[in-house]
Amino acid sequence: MTQIFDNPAEFADEALDGFVAANRGYVARVDGGVVRSTEIPAGQVALVVGGGSGHYPAFAGLVGPGLAAGSACGNMFASPAAGQVYRVAKAANAGGGVLLSYGNYAGDVLHFGQAQLRLNAEGIETRTVTVTDDIASAPIDQPEKRRGIAGDLTVFKIAGAAAEAGLDLDDVERLAIKANYRTRSLGVAFDGCTLPGANDPLFHVPAGQMSLGLGIHGEPGISEHPMPTASELAELLVSKLLADKPEDAGERVVAIVNGLGTVKYDELFLLYGKIEKLLTAAGLSVVEPECGELVTSLDMSGLSLTLLWLDDELEQLWAAPADTPAFRKGSMSPRAARADVGATQAGVAQAGAVTEQPTVAAAELGRLAVAVLAEVRDVVVEHEDELGKLDAIAGDGDHGIGMRRGVDAAAAAGKAASGSSVQRILEAAGEAWSEKAGGTSGALWGSAVIAAGQSLANRETYASADAAAAVKAFVRAITELGKADPGDKTMVDALLPFRDAFLAELDGGTPLDRALAAAAAAAQSAAAATAELRPLKGRARPLAEKSLGHPDPGAVSFGLIAARISQFIDSELASVAVAGQLPETAGNGA
Ligand code: ADP
Ligand code: MG
Repeated sequence: MTQIFDNPAEFADEALDGFVAANRGYVARVDGGVVRSTEIPAGQVALVVGGGSGHYPAFAGLVGPGLAAGSACGNMFASPAAGQVYRVAKAANAGGGVLLSYGNYAGDVLHFGQAQLRLNAEGIETRTVTVTDDIASAPIDQPEKRRGIAGDLTVFKIAGAAAEAGLDLDDVERLAIKANYRTRSLGVAFDGCTLPGANDPLFHVPAGQMSLGLGIHGEPGISEHPMPTASELAELLVSKLLADKPEDAGERVVAIVNGLGTVKYDELFLLYGKIEKLLTAAGLSVVEPECGELVTSLDMSGLSLTLLWLDDELEQLWAAPADTPAFRKGSMSPRAARADVGATQAGVAQAGAVTEQPTVAAAELGRLAVAVLAEVRDVVVEHEDELGKLDAIAGDGDHGIGMRRGVDAAAAAGKAASGSSVQRILEAAGEAWSEKAGGTSGALWGSAVIAAGQSLANRETYASADAAAAVKAFVRAITELGKADPGDKTMVDALLPFRDAFLAELDGGTPLDRALAAAAAAAQSAAAATAELRPLKGRARPLAEKSLGHPDPGAVSFGLIAARISQFIDSELASVAVAGQLPETAGNGA
């Protein structure tokens, strides 16, 4: 039971504030998480980790020299928003580029992915290595579907040591990938954990039973067993992990026994002793093991075993010193305090407000963007219930409310940025959309709106080629982040026909407003046609059969939005804005 709090809604934030207050020599609070409070040598790669709160010392407890440069900290068990990741990464960046690393969960993948696109677009080279160590979460031939659990520590440690050694981003990324490939974990739970303010645990394990492979947020395990003895448990964990070892594993391993919350250290040590004997008996040498709480799940009763299969390069990096609030190894020379943390963050916080000089054309297009966002909000509000009902058929029913939250925030943020360039306005709108909407569609729409804004930039003039480029950037953001293929039954099935029709019409010399109308019509009929498809991505996948005969909610909302924008542009086109700013189109007789 989580008992100590004033307001459960503030739990994650207040716990983080207190953590920083207790560890000022290591970390400083920034908007979205924490960064090192000590100097990071110029040009060093910044390892930025993160995830939901409730897993201490993952993730903020692993920030310090030799390990992470910063951590983005989401709400309890919830991914940080893309904007949080972005702001933490900007504050952590020391000029050597950023490696994002986190456990492989859908929400984290979308939000960190969106942050990565944005950092790269701004010239901060950013890569990603997701941690996929949990062998219970998918078979050995589908490593990309595996979740990240206590193996976060080995991947972060290797990457952090590589960064500390001064290796460049290519090498740090390569080593993190190798560490992840050679890390395997398996967990067991004896009972569930309780979120602050909740009366009941997220899940229960029946009394006297043990669940094998249960995830750190209660994701279903692979089997239930009568409570074993310590020797039986050691045997079970070791045999399962040895059966899943990587090719060219070698004979030297790091072993980590990790407590998930309420298992006592004495119990962990007792188990570790038995595990080490079994590993030795299997012909392995155990190198610099760890036994303690390294990735937890609130008050979950459970533990996990992790093996990192070493090679020479990994062994050196594993043994290298590190100095963080929760993980210390060897000795490191003291670091000077970093003077600029506050300043960096202030700069980041104000990034949206920094004075820019919008060109006349970019400001004009910005005004149009604010008006379009208001239209988008109106059409979503009109269809909110219908979109929710459609999502409830095979999804979780939140597409209406999620889109509503996103567009409300986006329209307000766009309006607040009035007078700026179209780029600034769409960046502000997209960021607000992503932070407020939640859900898959929020991350995708937010990212797409930002990408379109960055594509339109702050130019002296705009022509229809710029509209084509913006549509391409919008679509690319969604396909790169969501990785859905045509036919997966997602918004992509309406998006691609929209893009293709729009580009083909413009290519053929059709004026912008007519091209948009044709594209919107293509999107709407493609959205309707998704009724024939079975969902292969997203939350609706497990209920594929129920979804047959009903169109995909995300495709439908995209079609509705495209149609409304087209109507609006039609009515506006005769008047000043677009005709003046899109000379090519105007010249074509718009
Ligand atoms: P969630 O699925 O997180 O509850 P929403 O209900 O708001 O989010 O959005 C659901 C819609 O998101 C789906 O109807 C689909 O169109 C879209 N979607 C889901 N996954 C993907 C993906 N990987 N790529 C593109 N679109 C996706
Ligand atoms: Mg949904």
